[in-house]
Amino acid sequence: MMKHISILGSTGSIGTQTLDVVREHKEKLNVCAITGNNNIDLLEKQILEFSPELCCVMKEENALKLKKRLPSNIKTEIIHGMNGLIESAIYYKSEIIVTAISGMIGLKPTVAAIKKSKTIALANKETLVTGGKYIINLAKKYNSQILPIDSEHSAIFQCLMSNHKKTINKIILTASGGPFRGRSIEYLKNVTLEDALNHPNWSMGKKITIDSATLMNKGLEVIEAKYLFDVKPKQIEVVVHPQSIVHSGIEYWDHSTITQLGMPDMKVPIQFALFYPDRIKNSFKSLSLLEIGQLTFEKANLEVFKCLRLAFDALDIGGTMPTVLNAANEALVNLFLNRKISFLDIGDINERIMQKHNPKKIETIETILEAEEWTKRAISSF
Ligand code: NDP
Ligand code: MG
Repeated sequence: MMKHISILGSTGSIGTQTLDVVREHKEKLNVCAITGNNNIDLLEKQILEFSPELCCVMKEENALKLKKRLPSNIKTEIIHGMNGLIESAIYYKSEIIVTAISGMIGLKPTVAAIKKSKTIALANKETLVTGGKYIINLAKKYNSQILPIDSEHSAIFQCLMSNHKKTINKIILTASGGPFRGRSIEYLKNVTLEDALNHPNWSMGKKITIDSATLMNKGLEVIEAKYLFDVKPKQIEVVVHPQSIVHSGIEYWDHSTITQLGMPDMKVPIQFALFYPDRIKNSFKSLSLLEIGQLTFEKANLEVFKCLRLAFDALDIGGTMPTVLNAANEALVNLFLNRKISFLDIGDINERIMQKHNPKKIETIETILEAEEWTKRAISSF
């Protein structure tokens, strides 16, 4: 049976790999809507290849440019802006919405899709970090299923199949450790943007690549895991595993530990989310433990990688604190990408912003958006 999907952020790392999965299963997946921000060259190619019914470009001028380029026989409707993004997320034919946009801009379209009871194939971790319990409760209320694409959460989700959440002792959340694994604060004082963008195992968008270097990515994933699997922060154990083969796991209360292994290839968790609960054959690379030889594990250094500690702190404090940490981090990573601040500034300023914030209980999306606005103002006053 054909599944109809929308891909929010089809031009990014997760978006293009989702389209690779569609190519692999053309007879089973149909792309109804795609969206992008700046890369209209790639959107043009994707329209010609996949003939979606909708394509949203954020800026109106880019939408007009793209429209002009397309041959007249193309039926894809070009829309723009946040309204276009929301339209793509709630398109009547789409059953599954892949949220592959980076950053908290993904929140509103995801909320809209949840309210239409769509299935969310969630890559955009910022949605859960910023919206937390509000998003989980909304999904329950509207009977919308959230299926994680993030490789660790997909692993945990797979390890949980046929078991009950209440029998979880702890979640083992693995981390590659990023390009600066084992380094000291002294060393990190002088690292460059290029050093930070040089991830050892995964090729990803720039924002998440920097987050992987600061270990904020793991911090955001701790928060994401807390909400997805309804565990206490204390039950989440971060384990640095440089080979990125064990994607995460669960220790149950009978002390049996189940983990999920695979090559570091996002197409596997993407396909799993798109076809859940079915496992579908594909041509992806097989894992050879013999070739890999060794799997090693070590402790994360929370003093050097302050951002991971801040994420645990934000979870303990609760309310809008994770929202603020996420928003501050997003703004700071942008500044770092534009060479305005240093690598260590990211953690230091995140911490100072958290100290300034008086957290509020989240009851509505407005509280979340206000906390984000507060953070942007706080950052600009630095
Ligand atoms: P990329 O930077 O590669 O792609 C981001 C996508 O979002 C692009 O399509 C981009 O459009 C679009 N986009 C960026 N800013 C905006 C905006 N302001 N408005 C609308 N669209 C926008 O990111 P990734 O694919 O790496 O990551 C996407 C999400 O998935 C993130 O939340 C990340 O944390 C998560 N994730 C990613 C993993 C990975 O392996 N890459 C693994 C696990 C989770 P354009 O390119 O046209 O400018
Ligand atoms: Mg991950």
